[in-house]
Formats: sequence, C-alpha cells, structure tokens
Amino acid sequence: MPNDSHDAPPELDELRTRLATVHDLRAASAVLGWDQMTYLPAQGGAARGRQLATLSQVAHEKFTDDRVGSLLEALRPYADAVGPEHPDAALIRVAHRDWDHARRVPADFLAAFTEHTSTSYQAWATARPANDFAAIAPILEKTVEMSRQYAGYFPHTTHVADPLVDAAEPGLGVADVRALFSALRSRLVPLVRAATDQPRPDDTCLTRHYPEDAQWRFSEMVATRLGYDFSRGRQDRAPHPFTTSFSRDDVRITTRLSADDLRFGLFATMHEAGHGMYEQGIAPALDGTLLGSGASSGIHESQSRLWENLVGRSRDFWEWGYPLLQAEFPDQLSDVPLDTFHRAINRVEPSLIRVEADELTYNLHIMMRFDFELALLDGSMRVRDLPEAWRTRFVEDLGIAPPDDRNGCMQDVHWFAGPVGGAFQGYTIGNVLAAQLYERAVKDLPSIPGAITRGEFGELLGWLHTRLHALGRKHDVHETVHRSTGASLTIEPYMAYLHGKFGALYGV
Ligand code: ZN
Repeated sequence: MPNDSHDAPPELDELRTRLATVHDLRAASAVLGWDQMTYLPAQGGAARGRQLATLSQVAHEKFTDDRVGSLLEALRPYADAVGPEHPDAALIRVAHRDWDHARRVPADFLAAFTEHTSTSYQAWATARPANDFAAIAPILEKTVEMSRQYAGYFPHTTHVADPLVDAAEPGLGVADVRALFSALRSRLVPLVRAATDQPRPDDTCLTRHYPEDAQWRFSEMVATRLGYDFSRGRQDRAPHPFTTSFSRDDVRITTRLSADDLRFGLFATMHEAGHGMYEQGIAPALDGTLLGSGASSGIHESQSRLWENLVGRSRDFWEWGYPLLQAEFPDQLSDVPLDTFHRAINRVEPSLIRVEADELTYNLHIMMRFDFELALLDGSMRVRDLPEAWRTRFVEDLGIAPPDDRNGCMQDVHWFAGPVGGAFQGYTIGNVLAAQLYERAVKDLPSIPGAITRGEFGELLGWLHTRLHALGRKHDVHETVHRSTGASLTIEPYMAYLHGKFGALYGV
C-alpha cells in the first residue's frame, strides 16, 4: 500500500505544473495534427507544418529545461520513501525516463534528421510509383547511418537497435523480440502453408456494392455497441485510419470506406475503436499527465487487434451482428449464409502488401521487416541487397515472390519517413498480446464468449479497463503485461487461438 504519511514536497507541485504545460502544448499540437489528416484544405499544408514545428519546439524546450532535471533530482528521496506503487513515484519515474531520453539527442542532429527524412519522404513518393529502387537506395543508406547515430546517443545492451526498440516498447530489447519472433515464425510458416493448401473460401460477397452512408451508420453502431464512447470522441474519415487522444474525454477515431469492399470501413472502425477505448479507459487521475496514455506501441496494438480480430472476426460476434448487417444490406447479403460470410472475412491468402494481409500471414510480413532492419543496422546486410533479400524471404515464408520493388521493399512509408528500426515489431507484439489478454479475460469471466453472441461487450471491456487501460503509462512492457495477464508475454495463447480458429475454418 502507498505510504501516505510522507507529505509531498513543494517541488512536486512545480514539476506537475511544468509537465501539465508540456502536456497541453502536445495536446494542442495533436489537435492540429488530427485536423491535418482529416479536414485541412490542400493549400494549408505549409502553414500547418510551420505551426506544428513551432509547438513541438516550444514543448521540447519546456520539457528539457534544466529546472525539470533538478526538480526530478530533488524528488528522488520522496519517490523512494513512498515506494514504487505510489502514483507520484510512477510519475517521477516516467518523467525521469522521458526527460533523459529527450536530453540525449542533440538539437542540431534532430534538425538534420528531420530534414533528411522529409527529403527521403519526397524522394520515396516519386521513386515508389516509378519502381526506382536505385534512386532511393543512397538516401536509405543515409537513413540507416543516421538511425545508427541516433541509437548511439542511448545506452544499449547488445544490439545497436536496442534503443530503437526500447523507444517503442519500453523495457524490451532486440533479444526479447527476437526470441518471441523466432518461436512464432517456426510455428506460423507451417500453419500458413497448411491453410493455403486448402481451397480458398469464396469472398465475393464482400465486394458487392455497399453504399457508404449505410456503411458509416453500421460502423458507428458497432463502435458504440463495443463501448467506444461518442460523447468523449468522434469518428471522421481519413485515407490512413488512425486514433488520436487529447485527453481521456476527447479521443478521436478515423476510418476509410470503400463502396466496393465492405472490409475496409468495418474493420478499420473496430480496429480504431479498440485504440480509442484504451485511451478512454485510462484512470481519470492520470489524465493530463505524462502517464495518461497507452503503455507502448505493441500494447496499444493489442487493443486494436483484440477488438478487430479476436472479437470482430469471430463467429460469436457475427451471431449477433450478422442479422443486423443483413438488415442494413438486404440486397447484398440476404442470400449469403452466416458461415459463408464468416469464412469470407477470415480468408487466408499469401499477398504482397502488408496492410492488405490477412490475420494469419500478417505477422510474416512484420517479422521479415524486423529482421531486415536489424541486419541493415548491424551492417550484416547492405541496402543494395535489400530487394533480393526481400524476394528470397517472401518465397521462403509465403511461397510467392514480388514482381517488383514497388510491391516489395518500397511498399511501406516507415523507412522513408523516419528512422530504420523499431517501427514494425509492435504490430506482431500486439497480435500476440491480444490473444494472451483475451484468454486471461475469459478465464476470469467465462461468460464473455456467450455475452458476445448477444452483442454484449461490457464484461470484456470492463475487464480490460480494470486490468490494463487504467494503468496508463505507469509501467514498462514487462510489468504492464504481468499486471494485466499474470504472466510474461508468451505466444502460446496466440498459437492456440490461431489453431482453434483456422483449424475449424480450414480443417488444418
Ligand atoms: Zn493500430
């Protein structure tokens, strides 16, 4: 129990006030960012870029101020006295970590890196459609070099990419992710092979004409029903769906719709609602502080994947949802049985493009990117060898080869708009953790699957709120996973889930 007999020293008030200012500047900047991705007029980009840069510079200066460092130093004995469980100690611990991170990278390096990535993004935007890897290769080489230099400002244990992984997944290093991924890959490749040896389910029912206004209505109904609170959020359209939070009482989601493919809008909404419900569920006491957001990229992704895949692509969910979907789209779906629909939304097929990959093959796309990042950073692979390595690995893991680089190693924006390293592993960590959380939730509350068949999600969401969401950013990944599931991160529940689901669907 927290020891309340220690009076908080005056430095704590000053620290809180300073951090609250930084938080508000960042939140204001996030509002501008949200607007940029949704409603900004075409000509408004340059001014918006300047406004965002100004706000981020002011926030950075205020946060990295020497005074913040001396306050943190002065508060150390208090944090020790109240013990690590005390909310003040968590704030001081995380503030210290963030402050140290922000102070390590010199401002002139950051400026040079930002300028380089913006050049790189422009070059990629031209080179990708032209399938011109040779044009982008020297720029990517420089990005790799600068990413290495960036990582060099931080202490790392064994691998040069450790700080890049740790920045996205606090407490995890390359070795942790490698161990998880190598176990997963060796069991996933045969499962994908077995599933894709079976006849492909017919998914043409998903690509009939679905008017967008009806899709919009349905997606908002589903998000509301799952538990996303529209009185503390809203949904808008964006070409690349995302979620952003300004406080736990204003968490916004976006989706994209296609009139010719039911999958995009429906599953993007469920995915983003999962991110949104995480942010809406953070303990009120943490709101407006450094602790008031998700714990890591991978943990955030566990929430979107849990609702999109474990719930949203389950037979249980559609037992409730399918009659409602049929009522919304009688011309398109009245002749399609539930089983056909359920098989269609879970179709497995090796494909070239990560963002279009199914639930089963998706992780293979991620794991190859993670391995290539490490190899580029530790020098065991050269940038010019990337296209060939990409083709070889595709054939090994998925049995197909990309016909060109635009659909191969140039497809994702990540390496061309930021550092190489640390950007991809969170997606697969999220898939793995989603299954582990769901398994634990059902163990604690066995009525959850039955409730889902009736369209009742409150028990599951309540469990997640209590066990995970409320924690915010108080703990690192190991500790957060332990507190919410009672165990370390493990692939076993995920493999059991995949075998159960795709075993039933594909008879493998
Ligand atoms: Zn996501």
